[in-house]
Amino acid sequence: MPVTITFLGAAGTVTGSTYLVSDGTTKILVDCGIFQGNREWRQHNWDDPSFNSSEISAILLTHAHIDHIGMLPRYQKFGLNAPIYSSPATAELAELLLLDSGRLQEEEASYRSETGRSRHHPPLPLYTEADAQECVKRLRPVAINSDVNVSAGISARWSPMGHILGACSLTLELGGKRIVFSGDIGRYGEPVLLDPQPVPMGDLLLIESTYGDRLHDHSHDVHDILADVINKTTKRGGVTLIPSFAVGRTQSLLYYLRELKAAKRIPDIPVIIDSPMASDATQIYQRHANEYDQQARELLARGFQPFQLPKMYFVRGRDESIALNSIQEPMVLISASGMLTGGRILHHLKHRVSDRRNTVLFVGFQPPGSRGDWLKQGNSSLRLFGEEVSVGAEIAEISGLSAHGDRDELLRWCRSCPGTPSSVGVVHGEPESAQAFAATLRSELGWSTFVAAYKQTITV
Ligand SMILES: [Zn+2]
Repeated sequence: MPVTITFLGAAGTVTGSTYLVSDGTTKILVDCGIFQGNREWRQHNWDDPSFNSSEISAILLTHAHIDHIGMLPRYQKFGLNAPIYSSPATAELAELLLLDSGRLQEEEASYRSETGRSRHHPPLPLYTEADAQECVKRLRPVAINSDVNVSAGISARWSPMGHILGACSLTLELGGKRIVFSGDIGRYGEPVLLDPQPVPMGDLLLIESTYGDRLHDHSHDVHDILADVINKTTKRGGVTLIPSFAVGRTQSLLYYLRELKAAKRIPDIPVIIDSPMASDATQIYQRHANEYDQQARELLARGFQPFQLPKMYFVRGRDESIALNSIQEPMVLISASGMLTGGRILHHLKHRVSDRRNTVLFVGFQPPGSRGDWLKQGNSSLRLFGEEVSVGAEIAEISGLSAHGDRDELLRWCRSCPGTPSSVGVVHGEPESAQAFAATLRSELGWSTFVAAYKQTITV
């Protein structure tokens, strides 16, 4: 029987990664992600699954980002009850992120019912925290870098890919074919994480192309900007406020801050992480030292924790978070969400953004039209919680930080892999980016490529 793959997401867009793989008798899913971003794609989250959920015998996850796992609790309602295999760190992060996603879905539904903006009456959450609780019971961590029998006649191997802790490519052997899913490809030389690891190519490679047509800004050093911003702000007696993603970016920041403090390039001021999720994620990062790169392992061997620095405090409770408002001394205050879409960062912003001594330091992409973009444009006031707040704080940015490899890093990984894939499907990119990267793979490596289309089924 031929092996078939159906692209149920991350085709024509960067979110909703879901692949249905069949060898004619057994069906499995690789990733099971939620659509994010524009409304048209998000509507698909409400579609009935286009496969028989109870027929799926295994689910394999590349990593724990919600656009790769966020539909698991939803499909459970349609009978999806297969074991969910992933690397050990992914299983832990997936539990954290799925429970959070369930809470957010419930919050959004109640917001929609208050504002009357919903097509469901009363508005329904996509799923609840209780659904997510049920779903995470099926997570089955497996060893990385070894062959795992995930279903009759199907073997899988997870190989580290950088990106975030636990993120891996996935090599499937089924029906006499070898299929490689790149998953999300990370950066080279990232703190703590291994570089993307080469894997032998086979009959088909499905490769992401988020930055397939672009290069990151490599023109400046993260340490230099971070030190410069913190030193200037501290001299003014101000607070450096950093909106950050809880998983990945916050841990990288802690790593850089530890280095800067150790080198005495910044003063020994408090570093406060006000986000329960970032606190949990940092603990998970600390538990998986076996997935660290050489440098981080050496650090551990010398008795240093990569994410531990003097005067670092994690804040969990709401009251503790509010109490931070009374602190007048210089400090670094890291809080989520990184895109200022919600969370405690908004309260800190409201409290601190008017004061000229303070700095708001962006460490991630701020989409056009967003609050972050508005601040970066230098506007003199900002609307927060229905109030107009004046902007006096300095607005700064470290650009080029991304968890995704750029075009040259994607190519570097391809070149590092032994063998030539018979066919390459380009996925997980906006259409222009996917087309451009498919052309680059043809011209640079001579690989035979196609750009995957939503709901398309191919035979390997
Ligand atoms: Zn990702």
